Amino acid sequence: MSDKLKPCPFCGSDAVVQGFVKGPYAPSFWGQCSGEECPMEMLEGPHCETKELAIAAWNTRAETPWEQAAKGLAEALETIRGGVQLMVPEPQQSAFLKICDDALATYRALSGATEAKTERTGEEKR
Ligand SMILES: [Zn+2]
Repeated sequence: MSDKLKPCPFCGSDAVVQGFVKGPYAPSFWGQCSGEECPMEMLEGPHCETKELAIAAWNTRAETPWEQAAKGLAEALETIRGGVQLMVPEPQQSAFLKICDDALATYRALSGATEAKTERTGEEKR
């Protein structure tokens, strides 16, 4: 299981695990947005007994409508990318693929998505 938290769904800032191990309610851990400008000030995930459970709870929360829309656009871009490879001749193909790859890289960076259906074809591979 990954120990990396997905970014905050409201502001895109990194999320961190907070917690305490002493006291009447210990142990308790939760994911929390670290964004100082977050509109959901002090947003916290569910409180759990271990860091691993807190990370899993934060990362399996429901997607926001914006996340669902971005995911749909990323999937559409993957499909378009495949069509471009089959049907668009060079040099236009490279330009289209760069646009798709840049947009998909942005999506992955912002969403925390790590799975890629397609291989990167960035300049570093050519
Ligand atoms: Zn936030």
